[in-house]
Amino acid sequence: MPPLEALIREVIAGEGPMRLDRYMSLCLGHPLHGYYMTRDPLGERGDFVTAPEVSQVFGELVGVWAVAAWGAMGRPAAFHLVELGPGRGTLMADILRTVRKAAPDFAAAAAVHLVETSPVLRDKQKAALGEGPSWHGQFEAVPEGPMILIANEFFDALPVRQREKRGGRWHERVVGLENGRLVLGLGPEVPGGEGAEGAIVEFAPEREAVARAIGGRLARHAGAALVIDYGHLVSAPGDTLQAMRRHRFVPVTEAPGEADLTSHVDFAALAKAFRAGGAEAWPALTQRDFLLAMGLVPRFEQLASRATLETRATLHRQMERLAAEKEMGNLFKVLAATSPGLGMPYPFGRP
Ligand code: SAH
Repeated sequence: MPPLEALIREVIAGEGPMRLDRYMSLCLGHPLHGYYMTRDPLGERGDFVTAPEVSQVFGELVGVWAVAAWGAMGRPAAFHLVELGPGRGTLMADILRTVRKAAPDFAAAAAVHLVETSPVLRDKQKAALGEGPSWHGQFEAVPEGPMILIANEFFDALPVRQREKRGGRWHERVVGLENGRLVLGLGPEVPGGEGAEGAIVEFAPEREAVARAIGGRLARHAGAALVIDYGHLVSAPGDTLQAMRRHRFVPVTEAPGEADLTSHVDFAALAKAFRAGGAEAWPALTQRDFLLAMGLVPRFEQLASRATLETRATLHRQMERLAAEKEMGNLFKVLAATSPGLGMPYPFGRP
């Protein structure tokens, strides 16, 4: 039995079934056995592949967006360029390479801050980015000041809770022990609104707390934040908690600490939390619409024009992966939040 499963069973045997948010944070973040603490999960040989790992173009276009945001902020001579959950550091490396060429003043003004809990991934980030960045364990530790913040596939990894309606009442969903196995079940009664019998509603206080803190920062200093993740634009009931191992879905109670555990981001709730913190949040776009508006196709065409036939096919495949409706294009959404008064950033708010 994996050590983390033994530990979770012990806790449940002693204290009773545990809430999903606690289960999720133990699985992902337990200091010794948590999923992210013990491995680099990214890449074809790992458990999942993210957009920056698909193509450099993703980071290049995010970099272009960041430079435009910096322009809207009045081109401050010093600001914090923050990334939450930078993985292997690929996205930040692609952003920095792009801005050093295209906007050296931006590059000179940026102090890079990475928010990362995983020691394994911090090492990868150091290998990709050198000793230049500052590392922090949480967003709140990033120093105050003007900021541009990027988060790709970060919020999906923050713990969620779920409530389920049974017998006309809402109950917390919990992980318990049944016949010697970890199972999902119903816990104590909790308050909840309308909902059909059997409905499951997800909510994510930890995600919202981070978004509120970012919103507060944007209210105090000029800045902008760009959040990219899989999820839905409108809040709706549904269980989206998922465990993924080697590119396959597995039951969420199977092999705790060995599978990636995530849930879809409720972008409406996230936007509300940014606003509650004091920022403006703009209607989210699909990743497809965002990338197309940022110049995805011409950039790929430019790369293809100086590539071999074989590489051209690969480039085409990468572009499809990022933007095709059946791939990441529609499932992934992009949300921007800005300091009040900064105005709506391109390409948000377009039809
Ligand atoms: N953004 C990267 C990696 C996504 S995986 C990419 O797109 O490739 C999620 C990242 O968030 C990992 O770097 C993981 O270690 C980090 N992470 C997960 N939970 C975190 C937390 N609570 N605080 C800070 N970082 C966290």
